[in-house]
Amino acid sequence: MNETREKLVEVKNLKKYFPIKTSMFKKGNQVVKAVDDVTFHIYKGETFGLVGESGCGKSTLGRTLNRLYNPTSGEILFDGKDITKLNNKELQPFRNRMQMIFQDPYSSLNPHLTVEKIIDEPLEIHTRLSKNERKEKIIDILEKVGLKKEDLDKLPHEFSGGQRQRIGIARALSINPDFILCDEAISALDVSIQAQVINMLEDLQSELNLTYLFVAHDLSMVRHISDRIGVMYLGKIVEISKSEELYDKPLHPYTQALLSAIPIPDPIKAQNSKREIITGELPSPIEMEKGCRFRSRCPFAKPICAEADPQLKQVDDEHYVACHLY
Ligand code: SF4
Repeated sequence: MNETREKLVEVKNLKKYFPIKTSMFKKGNQVVKAVDDVTFHIYKGETFGLVGESGCGKSTLGRTLNRLYNPTSGEILFDGKDITKLNNKELQPFRNRMQMIFQDPYSSLNPHLTVEKIIDEPLEIHTRLSKNERKEKIIDILEKVGLKKEDLDKLPHEFSGGQRQRIGIARALSINPDFILCDEAISALDVSIQAQVINMLEDLQSELNLTYLFVAHDLSMVRHISDRIGVMYLGKIVEISKSEELYDKPLHPYTQALLSAIPIPDPIKAQNSKREIITGELPSPIEMEKGCRFRSRCPFAKPICAEADPQLKQVDDEHYVACHLY
């Protein structure tokens, strides 16, 4: 483990369970274990990619560490401060430092507000800048995200999907955050636009010293932007590694299967590659049995896999895996 780099976010044994309602008003005893005992950290200035199939808990994990959801248990440290149990007022200074970019920019932007008003809202609430100073800042941010001063008076529907995502990014940047949760932030965009937005996010990161948590199901895009990647399966992180190493030497059987499902553009390479198709039943996230939760789909499962839940174990510098094979 690299001890010299400073951590911006540290998550320890984090759980987020959602009670299941048995009627409109009554909560039953059963829970969905969306995030189940997750421990990891994000270094200052890095991009940490979080991947997994839909429903694996990656968005819930992101939103819980941003304190949009209250955790069930565990700890969240932000820049060394424990923010797990802070109330809304105490959280405010941290909320300013932790912003979010959503998947669907259209539904996250108020369609009746102009671009200027959309970006001005957080500035008016969270800063003491005068109206003129705010306007100058808004123009500056718009230029940073590739939009123009002439766009100030336009409404969201006058822009393309990629441009609307740029407005969402400008709004997130307006109050100078350190940390941005990009929750499937490019999934709804065309591939060519995805690459442009990724390049812009990378430029902004070096210019403004930002730290990103990049949540996505598209492994090929996560590889391009991430320094390290965590792979999630049914509420657990099952592997963490530097990005290149994860793609060159995936250890967890689930990671191997996810990677082999990525389409290969070269037809000759694609023909020679061995695809691992995930078969077997997905266990219920409500009645989780003991042992490894991937075992019903794992071709390498052995008796111990039904007995003990494998914990994340360090196997190399910055490479961790939760599997009884290691
Ligand atoms: Fe497969 Fe066992 Fe490893 Fe789980 S712990 S991934 S079942 S080998």
